[in-house]
Amino acid sequence: MSEFPQGEVWLVGAGPGDAGLLTLHAVEALKQADIVVHDALVSAAVLEYAGDAERVLLGKRGGKPSPKQPGINARLIVEAKAGKRVVRLKGGDPFMFGRGAEEVLALVTAGVRFRVIPGITAGIGGLAYAGIPVTARGVNSGVIFLTGHDHTGLSPEGVDWQAVGRAAGMIVLYMAMRHMGEISGKLIAGGLAVDTPVAVVMNASLPDMRVLETTLSKAAADIAASGIGAPAIVSIGQGNLLREAMAWR
Ligand code: SAH
Repeated sequence: MSEFPQGEVWLVGAGPGDAGLLTLHAVEALKQADIVVHDALVSAAVLEYAGDAERVLLGKRGGKPSPKQPGINARLIVEAKAGKRVVRLKGGDPFMFGRGAEEVLALVTAGVRFRVIPGITAGIGGLAYAGIPVTARGVNSGVIFLTGHDHTGLSPEGVDWQAVGRAAGMIVLYMAMRHMGEISGKLIAGGLAVDTPVAVVMNASLPDMRVLETTLSKAAADIAASGIGAPAIVSIGQGNLLREAMAWR
């Protein structure tokens, strides 16, 4: 077990929810932590590994009032400078749309020592729980990870949707539930077929996981009718068809 020195911040990926997807390093970090500052996506099952560490919920929640990033950074720095062993615990992988880079840069600026423990991202591991492989030989040769909204909450500017559609792979969208109509419209306008298979996986890897299978042109309406909502991963591409044979859960 690596020793967790006092006054350090360990940025830890919690995976998509099933505690079995934690890494050994993540479990070691949680066991030794004095304080665990986690975001809203971290599951209760994962937090159980934190023993008697203080738990603080500090994280952005799409569409809801949430703590500002500078405040989160400041809290991590204050706790570390007070000599605590701080785990900053983030759903999935800290560097996949998790603002992990911003937090690390703030620690660097403040002179706080840190370590990064990667996690299983929802866009790979979560989809695997739904029986969807993000790559498959002969089906697709690549995968693109995109966020469905930018820091303003709108569908992101500066994404070349035509190029994304032409990339002939799997498109995996995070945080896209509120903009699926707009995004699928842009992908169709960019040349993707209206019947491209789409899967929406809510609460991936958790006991209440839900999966919706639809197509690009029907996705927004089917999502609205199904009541499926965040947190959900959207995958777009022929690879979704493998789910018929590969769904194991
Ligand atoms: N760092 C995280 C992603 C943070 S952004 C990771 O690597 O997975 C938040 C988005 O992640 C959510 O809006 C959703 O799109 C996705 N997400 C995270 N956990 C999820 C889960 N258990 N099931 C489905 N989607 C999830």
